[in-house]
Amino acid sequence: MSARNYAKEFEAITEQADRAEKAPSLLLHACCAPCSSRCLELLREHFDVTVYYYNPNITVPEEYEHRKEEELRLIKVLNSQVETGCFPGMHSTEKAGKIGILEAPYEPDVYLDAVKGLENEPEGGARCEKCFALRLSKTAQAAARCGFDYFTTSLTISPLKNADLLNRTGEEAAALNGAVFLPSDFKKKDGYKRSVELSSMFGLYRQNYCGCVFSRQPDNNINERRSFN
Ligand code: SF4
Repeated sequence: MSARNYAKEFEAITEQADRAEKAPSLLLHACCAPCSSRCLELLREHFDVTVYYYNPNITVPEEYEHRKEEELRLIKVLNSQVETGCFPGMHSTEKAGKIGILEAPYEPDVYLDAVKGLENEPEGGARCEKCFALRLSKTAQAAARCGFDYFTTSLTISPLKNADLLNRTGEEAAALNGAVFLPSDFKKKDGYKRSVELSSMFGLYRQNYCGCVFSRQPDNNINERRSFN
């Protein structure tokens, strides 16, 4: 069986969205501002986007707040571009729409419960599968509850994360919760490179570890990386 091309599937749905009379609504699970910068630049051309910042995996409250504030600052800047109709340095058109925010709870205990017994797993292993499932099922529930046409996640922009696993997890969460998952592989077509450019352009905080306290352990070689996302 040939591997699915999620980037192609994404493109087919965006073409469909462009033909619709009204832009379909999309709930974007945003993991952090740097990753979501490129996703938002792209998605706001085709969808009526709302960000859902549900990241209970960021177990240190100060870190959680810092990343959330950066996400809010990014959205504010992007929305001010739409208000003025000026898009300096952006790959944007007049079709770009304003981005909304849906408040999500901060519940690190729910995350810690979900990954119990998997604390020592390596990054990319069983703990991350649970982490993705938790974040995407909560996003699917919010999308279904609020009547969004689609939901998706900025996590597929990271070269360090398994896009196939993320897409399959998103689809399972969609099926279980009565929502529709938008397949994606945002890192393709230099998407990751673009997220680095945008992060630098907006001076976004780029963290040097994934998010949970376990991903900060020295044996994960986190300190050898210039930036995580
Ligand atoms: S390393 Fe990242 S994806 Fe994996 S469990 Fe921790 S926060 Fe979640």
